[in-house]
Amino acid sequence: MCGIVGYTGKRCSITTLLDGLARLEYRGYDSAGLAVLEDGQLKLVKSVGKVKNLKKNVAATWPNPEKCTASTGIAHTRWATHGEPTEANAHPHLDGSGKFAIVHNGIIDNYLDLRKHLQEQGCVFKSETDSEVLAHLIHQCYEGDLLHAAAAASKKLKGTFGFAVICTDKPEEIAVARRGSPLVIGVGNNETLIASDIAAIAAYTKRVIFLNDDDLALITPDKIDIRNIENVPVSREIAKIDWDVAAAEKNGYEHFMLKEIFEQPEAVANTIRGRFDNKVFTSIMSGLNMSPDELASVKRIVIAACGTSMNAGMVGEYYFEDIAGIPTEVEQAAEFRYRNPIIEDNTMVLAISQSGETADTLAAVREAKNKGGIVAAINNVVGSTIARETGRGIYLHAGPEIGVASTKAFTCQVTALLLMALLFGRNRRLERHEGKNLINDIKNIPELIKQVLARAGEIEKIAKKYAKAENFFFIGRGCLYPTALEGALKLKEISYIHAEGYHAAELKHGPIALLEENVPVLALANDIPGKDKIIANIQECKARKSPVIATATVGDTEISELTDDILWIPHCSSFIAPIPTVVALQLFSYYIAKERGCEIDQPRNLAKSVTVE
Ligand code: GLU
Repeated sequence: MCGIVGYTGKRCSITTLLDGLARLEYRGYDSAGLAVLEDGQLKLVKSVGKVKNLKKNVAATWPNPEKCTASTGIAHTRWATHGEPTEANAHPHLDGSGKFAIVHNGIIDNYLDLRKHLQEQGCVFKSETDSEVLAHLIHQCYEGDLLHAAAAASKKLKGTFGFAVICTDKPEEIAVARRGSPLVIGVGNNETLIASDIAAIAAYTKRVIFLNDDDLALITPDKIDIRNIENVPVSREIAKIDWDVAAAEKNGYEHFMLKEIFEQPEAVANTIRGRFDNKVFTSIMSGLNMSPDELASVKRIVIAACGTSMNAGMVGEYYFEDIAGIPTEVEQAAEFRYRNPIIEDNTMVLAISQSGETADTLAAVREAKNKGGIVAAINNVVGSTIARETGRGIYLHAGPEIGVASTKAFTCQVTALLLMALLFGRNRRLERHEGKNLINDIKNIPELIKQVLARAGEIEKIAKKYAKAENFFFIGRGCLYPTALEGALKLKEISYIHAEGYHAAELKHGPIALLEENVPVLALANDIPGKDKIIANIQECKARKSPVIATATVGDTEISELTDDILWIPHCSSFIAPIPTVVALQLFSYYIAKERGCEIDQPRNLAKSVTVE
């Protein structure tokens, strides 16, 4: 969701904190702030809006930050959950005495009870946030040891948190704790950093420690003391990251989203690299950690996911059923976690989350594990909470995705699902030659994506024609039905056009009432089984005067004669079709949003990693 950065070392902390916050901007946020210890005093600067506003305010306090002596500090980008995005509500928050400053990610569920109790004891609150209780609680629990105070306060909290606290008594210390929100420690030379994700600190160190839930740590420039909530020391490994900071920059593209759309041939190639067994014509998924017998024991798959990942999961449902013959269903993770789902021994629950931190998906994982299912994950962020808690799964290796609207993660998720269906398929009904054909089809995906990207100019022209529309429908059938859902989701996320994805046959059960000449329909009419039916659906739309744009297989004049505009897709099988098709839809949405002047990489109200329910 939002982000935390902390620094303690020999240098002035301010530039590092601001740099770290800027690298976390992609997570989505609405205000920012920092607190540093300078000459035994806490100094606080906050601002509403972007980190650049904060930088201006910081410059007013420290015209020469390189000369400042504030070598310990914490900083935060906030994505408001309790109280509007105002300066007062921005983090850090102080306790009443001004001795402690805290930053917090997540939601404190019992904050109202805590706040009432603290107020009765004389605490005065300055913000509407749930987070501020933490500053007062830590003050109350403090008896000279910052880590003890943080642990004692953590014990009183219900909900999710990653937090960091500094104290005027302890000029070189930062105490941190996590439960449900990510926190990572960066181990430097005579300096230690903390952050809610490695993107913020990778420029300073490649040695990191991922904290587990209910871990606390006290960091100083040369010491890291990690304990559990009962104050028992725990040991956590130092991991080495190979995260390339350059990969998190725009590389000449106007937006991260466009860069990431164009990275898809390479991203998909990374997802499939080293994952084929060309002797048995199956895929290799060592991360799943399952023997052939264990694979064969899976009788049902339940996919739990949210948003774009759920759309990918719906494509996966076709794969698992058609290719492997395994009954599969897709559930919104938020429903799954509260619905008392039936999970038998031979049910595999597959959690899909780009970030691996999605709160609802994480809760679904925990529920499924508790019920004894085989739980696996597909995600992109190595060391993320879902990856660690499931202990088995597939990393996408798609590289960092900075644009809030997911693009390459989606195509890589679909590719990973196809690889997984191949594995299950060859383990049961799929014959050798079918496995071989599917492998060849999968290997060809990067090339198909390149062919769509080569048509970006054509797609841009068409997109501009429709940029003024206020309503849109996307329709499809088979695997292209969830692709239509994803196309509509992309358009609404970044262009703010009201767009709905529908199964083409469902249109006439209600939404057709809305069709008229100002409501374009984007029909996914590739030349795959079901095309004749979608032609009939296109006719229904034309009869209501809706302009129709179609995706069609290169050279298909039947579709081009019937429709107003065409997004051409290279020839491919129906299993592969969602991938090149969605790339065309991503470009279409991107160019519409650009034409409308929208803030494409950080759409309003959205966050990259949704760590609240
Ligand atoms: N719940 C806190 C607030 O509204 C923190 C939100 C966040 O994670 O940014 O201030």
